[in-house]
Amino acid sequence: MNTDQKKPQSFKKIKATDRMKEIMELHFRELDEAAKTRSRKIAWCTSVGPAELLRAAGFLVFFPENHGAMLGASRMATDLIPLANALGYSPDICSYLTSDIGSYIKGNSPLSKAYPGIVGPPRPDVLVYNTNQCRDVQDWFRFYAREFKVPLLGIHTHRGVGEITRAHIDSISAQMKALVPKLEEIAGRKLDYDELKHVVGLSRQCTDLWKEVLNIAANVPSPLTFFDGTIQMGPAVVMRGEQRAVDYYKLLLDELRDRVKNGVAAVDGERFRIYWDGRPIWGKLRELSELFSGLGACVLASTYCSSWVFPALDPDDPFDSMARAYLELLIVRDEEYKERYFEAEIHLYKIDGMIFHDAKTCPNNSNNRYGMPERLAKKFDMPVLVIHGDLNDLRCYSEEQARTSIEAFIEQLAEKKAR
Ligand code: SF4
Repeated sequence: MNTDQKKPQSFKKIKATDRMKEIMELHFRELDEAAKTRSRKIAWCTSVGPAELLRAAGFLVFFPENHGAMLGASRMATDLIPLANALGYSPDICSYLTSDIGSYIKGNSPLSKAYPGIVGPPRPDVLVYNTNQCRDVQDWFRFYAREFKVPLLGIHTHRGVGEITRAHIDSISAQMKALVPKLEEIAGRKLDYDELKHVVGLSRQCTDLWKEVLNIAANVPSPLTFFDGTIQMGPAVVMRGEQRAVDYYKLLLDELRDRVKNGVAAVDGERFRIYWDGRPIWGKLRELSELFSGLGACVLASTYCSSWVFPALDPDDPFDSMARAYLELLIVRDEEYKERYFEAEIHLYKIDGMIFHDAKTCPNNSNNRYGMPERLAKKFDMPVLVIHGDLNDLRCYSEEQARTSIEAFIEQLAEKKAR
């Protein structure tokens, strides 16, 4: 190939990450302590579920999808998935679900490796899902409801939504309000409405800061990659609604602004700016990061990291604004909305080319299946690549094939630039 390939560059360390690791450990140790001592009630919540409501109701909140991502990143998932398959959970359904259930069956969790003394996820008192992202979360939580014999509560969200109407919001808001008496009964205390407003306010601050972090990648060169984002999003996922997430993103933003001021690029000699659609391939983050940076390509923005941006949250109108925030997500929307969204992202981040990760077990987050890559390629006269893989099941991913396609894709980008 003609494209100059440089020595692989590893992650350029973001100093704030040390603080992030501390607060993530604190988060898991608090949950573990509460589960062991029964000092606080624990709710398991889907990643874009009503975390604010659960915190305000007095629960500590655990996110199984975060555990799923840890199973993927630690490469434990591929060996654990067959254990869930043996129980009848198909290899074709969400590999977060199958690897997480496999981890439970085997009693083997990445949490115990990362945090000595923690055996695994904390035992829940209640399980709360929102089907806004997919139906798999409901069946995933239902498995644990049977195992732990604890209540399973859920919000059922419209899918394929174009314009969000009052009827949509009323429906979700009413479902959230209907959870309150049940949560109060499990928590053994009344919901403090002022606390709910406070938590929603903190969540809004967190989300605004996280959006600023992501948007900083619009600078040329970008001080941040998508691969950094998959790590830095931890507090936005598991600690939104808490002060420490807000404090963390202020620290991170200061560092990233310094990078911009000093012209520090996340990828030295950035030549190409790439957008990533779909789930990360968790077990291959480092390899992919090194491959792209070695080719002078910065993958700098994604649909995935933006999934935790909830600009609608409003502390003065907690229920309706939570309903809107959890409805507005890209994954909930129709194809026309998604296309407009991608167009805006391509302009904002000055994108040269797009990669769509077609994740075998997550069709919900793979936006390549209905002609989107072809439409965008034509509209923007832009190289677009579809990579076949998976979030956690590495049996669905061929590293060799991906490398060859990525190198050819970068070649196309180089040719286009040379025109
Ligand atoms: S959105 Fe995808 S990765 Fe997330 S729970 Fe659903 S199927 Fe799994």
